[in-house]
Amino acid sequence: MNNAKIIIIGAGLSGLMIAYLLQKKGLEVIILEAHNRIGGRIETVTGTSGATMEMGATWFSKPHQNLIALLDELEISYFRQHTQGISFFETMSFVPPQKFEISDAEEPSYRIVGGTSTLIEKLVEKVGIQNIKTQTKITTIKEVDNHLEVSTSDGIVCKAETVITTLPPHLLVQTITFEPRLPDFIQQLARKTHTWMGESIKFAMEYASPFWRDNKYSGTLFSQASIIQEMYDHSTADNKGYALKGFLNGGTHMLSEEERKAKVILQLTKLFGPEAGNYVAYHEKVWREESLTFFPYEHLLMGHENNGHPDYKKPLLNDKLYISGSETASANPGYMEGAVVAAINIASQF
Ligand SMILES: Cc1cc2nc3c(=O)[nH]c(=O)nc-3n(C[C@H](O)[C@H](O)[C@H](O)COP(=O)(O)OP(=O)(O)OC[C@H]3O[C@@H](n4cnc5c(N)ncnc54)[C@H](O)[C@@H]3O)c2cc1C
Repeated sequence: MNNAKIIIIGAGLSGLMIAYLLQKKGLEVIILEAHNRIGGRIETVTGTSGATMEMGATWFSKPHQNLIALLDELEISYFRQHTQGISFFETMSFVPPQKFEISDAEEPSYRIVGGTSTLIEKLVEKVGIQNIKTQTKITTIKEVDNHLEVSTSDGIVCKAETVITTLPPHLLVQTITFEPRLPDFIQQLARKTHTWMGESIKFAMEYASPFWRDNKYSGTLFSQASIIQEMYDHSTADNKGYALKGFLNGGTHMLSEEERKAKVILQLTKLFGPEAGNYVAYHEKVWREESLTFFPYEHLLMGHENNGHPDYKKPLLNDKLYISGSETASANPGYMEGAVVAAINIASQF
Protein backbone atom coordinates (compact mmCIF):
# COMPACT_ATOMS: atom_id res chain seq x y z
CA MET A 1 0.00 0.00 0.00
CA ASN A 2 1.20 3.53 -0.79
CA ASN A 3 2.32 5.96 1.83
CA ALA A 4 0.55 9.27 1.48
CA LYS A 5 0.80 12.81 2.75
CA ILE A 6 -2.82 12.75 3.80
CA ILE A 7 -4.78 9.62 4.71
CA ILE A 8 -8.55 9.85 5.12
CA ILE A 9 -10.18 6.99 7.02
CA GLY A 10 -13.71 6.09 5.85
CA ALA A 11 -15.32 6.40 2.41
CA GLY A 12 -18.70 7.69 3.53
CA LEU A 13 -20.01 11.11 2.48
CA SER A 14 -17.57 12.96 4.82
CA GLY A 15 -14.47 11.09 3.67
CA LEU A 16 -15.31 11.44 -0.02
CA MET A 17 -16.18 15.14 0.35
CA ILE A 18 -12.93 15.87 2.23
CA ALA A 19 -10.97 14.09 -0.52
CA TYR A 20 -12.85 16.02 -3.21
CA LEU A 21 -12.16 19.40 -1.54
CA LEU A 22 -8.50 18.66 -0.78
CA GLN A 23 -7.87 17.46 -4.33
CA LYS A 24 -9.35 20.73 -5.58
CA LYS A 25 -6.59 22.43 -3.56
CA GLY A 26 -4.01 20.32 -5.37
CA LEU A 27 -3.35 17.96 -2.46
CA GLU A 28 -2.88 14.21 -2.85
CA VAL A 29 -5.03 12.05 -0.63
CA ILE A 30 -5.80 8.41 -0.16
CA ILE A 31 -8.99 7.05 1.44
CA LEU A 32 -8.88 3.81 3.43
CA GLU A 33 -12.26 2.10 3.84
CA ALA A 34 -12.92 -1.07 5.84
CA HIS A 35 -16.02 -2.20 3.95
CA ASN A 36 -16.06 -3.75 0.47
CA ARG A 37 -18.77 -1.14 -0.23
CA ILE A 38 -18.30 2.64 -0.53
CA GLY A 39 -20.87 5.00 1.02
CA GLY A 40 -21.03 4.20 4.73
CA ARG A 41 -24.46 5.21 6.02
CA ILE A 42 -25.61 5.89 2.46
CA GLU A 43 -26.75 2.65 0.85
CA THR A 44 -29.28 2.41 -1.98
CA VAL A 45 -30.51 -1.05 -3.01
CA THR A 46 -32.10 -1.61 -6.41
CA GLY A 47 -34.92 -4.13 -6.52
CA THR A 48 -35.78 -6.47 -9.38
CA SER A 49 -38.70 -4.17 -10.34
CA GLY A 50 -36.38 -1.15 -10.71
CA ALA A 51 -37.33 0.50 -7.42
CA THR A 52 -34.35 2.15 -5.69
CA MET A 53 -34.65 1.86 -1.94
CA GLU A 54 -32.65 3.70 0.71
CA MET A 55 -31.41 1.56 3.57
CA GLY A 56 -29.60 4.65 4.89
CA ALA A 57 -29.84 8.41 4.31
CA THR A 58 -32.79 9.61 2.24
CA TRP A 59 -34.20 13.08 2.95
CA PHE A 60 -32.97 16.64 3.14
CA SER A 61 -34.66 20.01 3.06
CA LYS A 62 -34.04 23.65 2.19
CA PRO A 63 -32.02 24.52 5.34
CA HIS A 64 -29.42 21.93 4.18
CA GLN A 65 -27.80 24.54 1.94
CA ASN A 66 -24.28 23.06 1.76
CA LEU A 67 -25.64 19.69 0.64
CA ILE A 68 -27.90 21.36 -1.92
CA ALA A 69 -24.95 23.43 -3.24
CA LEU A 70 -22.95 20.18 -3.62
CA LEU A 71 -25.81 18.49 -5.48
CA ASP A 72 -26.03 21.51 -7.80
CA GLU A 73 -22.28 21.50 -8.38
CA LEU A 74 -22.32 17.78 -9.24
CA GLU A 75 -25.44 18.26 -11.39
CA ILE A 76 -27.50 15.83 -9.34
CA SER A 77 -31.26 16.35 -9.46
CA TYR A 78 -33.64 15.97 -6.56
CA PHE A 79 -37.38 15.78 -6.17
CA ARG A 80 -40.06 16.40 -3.60
CA GLN A 81 -41.16 13.57 -1.28
CA HIS A 82 -44.64 12.40 -2.30
CA THR A 83 -47.10 13.04 0.54
CA GLN A 84 -50.36 13.74 -1.29
CA GLY A 85 -53.38 11.73 -0.20
CA ILE A 86 -54.62 10.24 3.03
CA SER A 87 -51.98 9.53 5.68
CA PHE A 88 -52.31 7.38 8.82
CA PHE A 89 -51.51 7.96 12.48
CA GLU A 90 -51.84 4.88 14.70
CA THR A 91 -52.03 6.05 18.30
CA MET A 92 -52.99 2.82 20.07
CA SER A 93 -53.43 -0.75 18.89
CA PHE A 94 -57.06 -0.95 20.05
CA VAL A 95 -58.41 2.11 18.20
CA PRO A 96 -58.70 2.62 14.43
CA PRO A 97 -55.94 4.75 12.88
CA GLN A 98 -56.48 8.49 12.55
CA LYS A 99 -56.53 9.72 8.97
CA PHE A 100 -55.13 13.09 7.95
CA GLU A 101 -53.75 14.96 4.96
CA ILE A 102 -50.39 16.74 4.82
CA SER A 103 -50.82 20.25 3.47
CA ASP A 104 -48.87 21.24 0.35
CA ALA A 105 -47.86 24.34 2.31
CA GLU A 106 -45.70 22.22 4.68
CA GLU A 107 -41.91 22.55 4.30
CA PRO A 108 -41.17 19.63 1.94
CA SER A 109 -38.45 17.00 2.15
CA TYR A 110 -36.48 16.08 -0.95
CA ARG A 111 -34.92 12.87 -2.28
CA ILE A 112 -32.12 12.43 -4.80
CA VAL A 113 -33.14 11.24 -8.27
CA GLY A 114 -31.78 7.73 -8.83
CA GLY A 115 -31.23 7.25 -5.09
CA THR A 116 -28.86 8.80 -2.53
CA SER A 117 -26.02 6.58 -3.77
CA THR A 118 -25.94 8.76 -6.91
CA LEU A 119 -24.17 11.37 -4.74
CA ILE A 120 -21.62 8.78 -3.60
CA GLU A 121 -21.06 7.55 -7.18
CA LYS A 122 -20.47 11.11 -8.46
CA LEU A 123 -17.99 11.86 -5.67
CA VAL A 124 -16.13 8.59 -6.34
CA GLU A 125 -15.90 9.60 -10.00
CA LYS A 126 -14.39 12.97 -8.98
CA VAL A 127 -12.01 11.58 -6.34
CA GLY A 128 -10.91 8.63 -8.52
CA ILE A 129 -11.51 5.01 -7.53
CA GLN A 130 -7.72 4.46 -7.61
CA ASN A 131 -7.47 6.75 -4.56
CA ILE A 132 -9.92 4.67 -2.49
CA LYS A 133 -8.77 1.39 -0.93
CA THR A 134 -11.70 -0.72 0.23
CA GLN A 135 -11.50 -3.75 2.55
CA THR A 136 -8.82 -1.87 4.48
CA LYS A 137 -9.77 -1.79 8.14
CA ILE A 138 -7.69 0.48 10.32
CA THR A 139 -6.94 -0.89 13.78
CA THR A 140 -4.08 1.31 15.05
CA ILE A 141 -2.86 4.88 14.61
CA LYS A 142 0.60 5.49 16.03
CA GLU A 143 2.65 8.69 16.27
CA VAL A 144 6.23 8.04 15.21
CA ASP A 145 8.57 11.07 15.09
CA ASN A 146 6.97 13.67 12.79
CA HIS A 147 4.46 11.37 11.07
CA LEU A 148 1.67 8.90 11.81
CA GLU A 149 1.67 5.17 11.12
CA VAL A 150 -1.70 3.68 10.30
CA SER A 151 -2.00 -0.12 10.60
CA THR A 152 -4.68 -2.32 9.07
CA SER A 153 -6.23 -5.52 10.37
CA ASP A 154 -4.08 -7.36 7.77
CA GLY A 155 -0.92 -5.98 9.36
CA ILE A 156 -0.16 -3.48 6.57
CA VAL A 157 1.41 -0.25 7.79
CA CYS A 158 0.99 3.04 5.95
CA LYS A 159 2.72 6.34 6.79
CA ALA A 160 1.19 9.80 6.54
CA GLU A 161 1.93 13.37 7.62
CA THR A 162 -1.76 13.89 8.39
CA VAL A 163 -4.63 11.49 9.15
CA ILE A 164 -8.27 12.57 8.98
CA THR A 165 -10.72 10.10 10.45
CA THR A 166 -14.41 10.21 9.53
CA LEU A 167 -15.62 7.31 11.68
CA PRO A 168 -18.47 8.20 14.02
CA PRO A 169 -16.46 9.37 17.10
CA HIS A 170 -17.93 6.68 19.40
CA LEU A 171 -16.90 3.94 16.96
CA LEU A 172 -13.49 5.56 16.54
CA VAL A 173 -12.44 5.39 20.18
CA GLN A 174 -13.96 1.95 20.69
CA THR A 175 -12.37 0.25 17.68
CA ILE A 176 -9.09 2.03 16.89
CA THR A 177 -6.06 1.95 19.24
CA PHE A 178 -3.97 5.11 19.48
CA GLU A 179 -0.31 5.31 20.48
CA PRO A 180 0.10 7.50 22.46
CA ARG A 181 -3.41 7.32 23.92
CA LEU A 182 -5.73 10.14 22.91
CA PRO A 183 -6.24 12.82 25.60
CA ASP A 184 -8.88 11.93 28.20
CA PHE A 185 -11.16 14.83 27.21
CA ILE A 186 -11.64 13.50 23.69
CA GLN A 187 -11.98 9.86 24.73
CA GLN A 188 -14.68 10.70 27.24
CA LEU A 189 -16.46 12.98 24.81
CA ALA A 190 -16.42 10.41 22.00
CA ARG A 191 -17.77 7.67 24.27
CA LYS A 192 -20.73 9.95 24.94
CA THR A 193 -21.29 11.03 21.33
CA HIS A 194 -24.34 9.50 19.74
CA THR A 195 -24.05 8.01 16.25
CA TRP A 196 -27.10 9.18 14.33
CA MET A 197 -29.35 6.28 13.27
CA GLY A 198 -26.90 3.66 14.57
CA GLU A 199 -29.73 1.81 16.33
CA SER A 200 -32.24 2.13 13.51
CA ILE A 201 -33.89 -0.52 11.34
CA LYS A 202 -34.88 0.45 7.82
CA PHE A 203 -37.30 -1.60 5.73
CA ALA A 204 -38.72 -1.29 2.22
CA MET A 205 -41.59 -3.16 0.61
CA GLU A 206 -41.22 -3.26 -3.16
CA TYR A 207 -44.41 -3.41 -5.26
CA ALA A 208 -45.30 -3.86 -8.95
CA SER A 209 -47.70 -0.89 -8.77
CA PRO A 210 -48.43 1.99 -6.36
CA PHE A 211 -51.82 0.58 -5.30
CA TRP A 212 -51.97 2.93 -2.31
CA ARG A 213 -51.94 5.99 -4.59
CA ASP A 214 -54.72 4.45 -6.69
CA ASN A 215 -56.74 4.15 -3.45
CA LYS A 216 -56.03 7.84 -2.54
CA TYR A 217 -53.50 7.03 0.19
CA SER A 218 -50.21 8.94 0.41
CA GLY A 219 -48.20 6.02 1.79
CA THR A 220 -47.29 8.13 4.83
CA LEU A 221 -47.72 6.45 8.20
CA PHE A 222 -46.79 7.33 11.77
CA SER A 223 -47.42 4.68 14.39
CA GLN A 224 -46.99 4.26 18.12
CA ALA A 225 -48.82 0.95 18.01
CA SER A 226 -47.11 -1.42 15.57
CA ILE A 227 -43.74 -2.43 14.18
CA ILE A 228 -43.60 0.22 11.42
CA GLN A 229 -43.12 3.53 13.22
CA GLU A 230 -42.70 5.85 10.25
CA MET A 231 -43.19 5.19 6.55
CA TYR A 232 -43.45 7.04 3.22
CA ASP A 233 -44.09 6.44 -0.44
CA HIS A 234 -40.70 5.53 -1.88
CA SER A 235 -41.47 5.37 -5.59
CA THR A 236 -38.78 6.56 -7.98
CA ALA A 237 -38.74 10.09 -9.42
CA ASP A 238 -39.62 8.80 -12.90
CA ASN A 239 -42.52 6.89 -11.34
CA LYS A 240 -41.39 3.54 -12.73
CA GLY A 241 -40.32 1.74 -9.52
CA TYR A 242 -42.64 1.49 -6.53
CA ALA A 243 -42.05 0.94 -2.84
CA LEU A 244 -43.13 1.89 0.65
CA LYS A 245 -40.20 2.55 2.95
CA GLY A 246 -39.55 3.54 6.53
CA PHE A 247 -38.33 2.72 10.01
CA LEU A 248 -39.18 -0.25 12.19
CA ASN A 249 -39.26 -0.19 15.98
CA GLY A 250 -35.57 -0.48 16.95
CA GLY A 251 -36.37 -2.96 19.72
CA THR A 252 -37.32 -5.55 17.11
CA HIS A 253 -33.64 -6.15 16.30
CA MET A 254 -34.10 -9.05 18.70
CA LEU A 255 -36.54 -10.74 16.29
CA SER A 256 -35.55 -12.69 13.17
CA GLU A 257 -35.96 -11.10 9.73
CA GLU A 258 -38.88 -13.46 9.05
CA GLU A 259 -40.61 -12.38 12.26
CA ARG A 260 -40.17 -8.68 11.46
CA LYS A 261 -41.37 -9.22 7.90
CA ALA A 262 -44.52 -11.03 9.08
CA LYS A 263 -45.36 -8.13 11.41
CA VAL A 264 -44.77 -5.58 8.62
CA ILE A 265 -47.13 -7.45 6.27
CA LEU A 266 -49.76 -7.70 9.01
CA GLN A 267 -49.63 -3.93 9.68
CA LEU A 268 -49.67 -2.98 5.99
CA THR A 269 -52.59 -5.26 5.08
CA LYS A 270 -54.53 -3.98 8.10
CA LEU A 271 -54.08 -0.39 6.92
CA PHE A 272 -54.12 -0.69 3.12
CA GLY A 273 -56.05 -3.94 2.55
CA PRO A 274 -55.03 -7.31 1.01
CA GLU A 275 -53.22 -5.66 -1.95
CA ALA A 276 -50.40 -4.79 0.46
CA GLY A 277 -49.67 -8.50 0.81
CA ASN A 278 -48.99 -8.76 -2.92
CA TYR A 279 -45.42 -7.43 -2.79
CA VAL A 280 -42.41 -8.05 -5.05
CA ALA A 281 -39.83 -8.20 -2.25
CA TYR A 282 -39.13 -7.22 1.36
CA HIS A 283 -35.83 -5.46 2.11
CA GLU A 284 -34.39 -4.45 5.48
CA LYS A 285 -31.23 -3.32 7.21
CA VAL A 286 -30.59 -3.56 10.94
CA TRP A 287 -27.93 -0.89 11.45
CA ARG A 288 -26.88 -2.00 14.92
CA GLU A 289 -25.58 -5.17 13.24
CA GLU A 290 -23.32 -3.03 11.03
CA SER A 291 -20.09 -3.13 13.06
CA LEU A 292 -18.54 -0.40 10.87
CA THR A 293 -21.23 2.03 12.06
CA PHE A 294 -22.52 0.96 15.45
CA PHE A 295 -20.76 -0.01 18.68
CA PRO A 296 -22.91 -0.56 21.79
CA TYR A 297 -22.96 2.36 24.23
CA GLU A 298 -21.91 2.05 27.88
CA HIS A 299 -24.59 4.56 28.91
CA LEU A 300 -27.90 5.62 27.46
CA LEU A 301 -27.27 8.40 24.95
CA MET A 302 -29.96 10.65 23.57
CA GLY A 303 -30.23 11.14 19.80
CA HIS A 304 -27.53 13.63 18.69
CA GLU A 305 -26.01 13.79 22.19
CA ASN A 306 -22.69 15.70 22.00
CA ASN A 307 -23.01 15.95 18.23
CA GLY A 308 -21.14 19.00 16.96
CA HIS A 309 -19.17 19.47 20.22
CA PRO A 310 -16.55 22.24 19.71
CA ASP A 311 -13.75 20.01 21.07
CA TYR A 312 -13.89 18.02 17.82
CA LYS A 313 -12.38 21.06 16.12
CA LYS A 314 -9.04 20.59 17.94
CA PRO A 315 -6.41 18.63 15.98
CA LEU A 316 -4.66 15.94 18.04
CA LEU A 317 -1.28 14.14 18.12
CA ASN A 318 0.66 17.36 17.53
CA ASP A 319 -1.72 18.59 14.83
CA LYS A 320 -1.36 15.44 12.74
CA LEU A 321 -4.75 13.85 13.52
CA TYR A 322 -8.13 15.41 12.69
CA ILE A 323 -11.44 13.96 13.85
CA SER A 324 -14.18 14.60 11.29
CA GLY A 325 -17.41 12.90 10.19
CA SER A 326 -21.01 14.09 10.32
CA GLU A 327 -21.28 13.86 14.13
CA THR A 328 -18.52 16.47 14.51
CA ALA A 329 -20.21 19.14 12.36
CA SER A 330 -21.00 22.55 13.82
CA ALA A 331 -24.35 22.62 11.96
CA ASN A 332 -26.82 19.79 11.28
CA PRO A 333 -24.54 17.12 12.78
CA GLY A 334 -25.59 13.51 12.18
CA TYR A 335 -27.16 14.35 8.81
CA MET A 336 -25.80 14.41 5.26
CA GLU A 337 -25.63 18.20 5.58
CA GLY A 338 -23.46 17.69 8.68
CA ALA A 339 -21.13 15.40 6.73
CA VAL A 340 -20.67 18.13 4.11
CA VAL A 341 -20.25 20.89 6.73
CA ALA A 342 -17.63 18.81 8.63
CA ALA A 343 -15.73 18.21 5.37
CA ILE A 344 -15.76 21.92 4.46
CA ASN A 345 -14.40 22.76 7.93
CA ILE A 346 -11.53 20.26 7.66
CA ALA A 347 -10.62 21.27 4.10
CA SER A 348 -10.50 24.96 5.13
CA GLN A 349 -7.58 24.12 7.44
CA PHE A 350 -5.28 22.97 4.60
C1 LIG B 1 -30.93 4.38 8.56
C2 LIG B 1 -30.35 5.74 8.36
C3 LIG B 1 -31.17 6.75 7.91
C4 LIG B 1 -30.65 8.04 7.71
N1 LIG B 1 -31.47 8.99 7.19
C5 LIG B 1 -30.95 10.21 6.90
C6 LIG B 1 -31.74 11.15 6.18
O1 LIG B 1 -32.88 10.87 5.79
N2 LIG B 1 -31.18 12.37 5.94
C7 LIG B 1 -29.90 12.69 6.32
O2 LIG B 1 -29.46 13.81 6.05
N3 LIG B 1 -29.12 11.79 6.97
C8 LIG B 1 -29.62 10.56 7.25
N4 LIG B 1 -28.82 9.62 7.85
C9 LIG B 1 -27.49 10.03 8.31
C10 LIG B 1 -26.44 10.04 7.18
O3 LIG B 1 -26.44 8.79 6.56
C11 LIG B 1 -25.07 10.34 7.76
O4 LIG B 1 -25.07 11.61 8.40
C12 LIG B 1 -23.93 10.39 6.76
O5 LIG B 1 -24.07 9.44 5.73
C13 LIG B 1 -22.64 10.18 7.54
O6 LIG B 1 -21.52 10.19 6.68
P1 LIG B 1 -20.07 10.05 7.30
O7 LIG B 1 -19.13 9.93 6.18
O8 LIG B 1 -19.83 11.13 8.30
O9 LIG B 1 -20.10 8.70 8.18
P2 LIG B 1 -20.31 7.19 7.66
O10 LIG B 1 -21.22 7.16 6.51
O11 LIG B 1 -20.66 6.39 8.87
O12 LIG B 1 -18.87 6.78 7.12
C14 LIG B 1 -17.85 6.24 7.93
C15 LIG B 1 -17.08 5.23 7.09
O13 LIG B 1 -16.01 4.69 7.87
C16 LIG B 1 -15.88 3.31 7.57
N5 LIG B 1 -15.15 2.67 8.66
C17 LIG B 1 -15.62 2.32 9.90
N6 LIG B 1 -14.63 1.79 10.64
C18 LIG B 1 -13.52 1.79 9.88
C19 LIG B 1 -12.17 1.37 10.09
N7 LIG B 1 -11.77 0.85 11.25
N8 LIG B 1 -11.27 1.52 9.06
C20 LIG B 1 -11.65 2.05 7.86
N9 LIG B 1 -12.92 2.47 7.61
C21 LIG B 1 -13.83 2.34 8.61
C22 LIG B 1 -17.32 2.85 7.44
O14 LIG B 1 -17.41 1.62 6.75
C23 LIG B 1 -17.92 4.02 6.69
O15 LIG B 1 -17.86 3.84 5.28
C24 LIG B 1 -29.29 8.32 8.02
C25 LIG B 1 -28.47 7.29 8.48
C26 LIG B 1 -28.98 6.00 8.61
C27 LIG B 1 -28.07 4.89 9.08
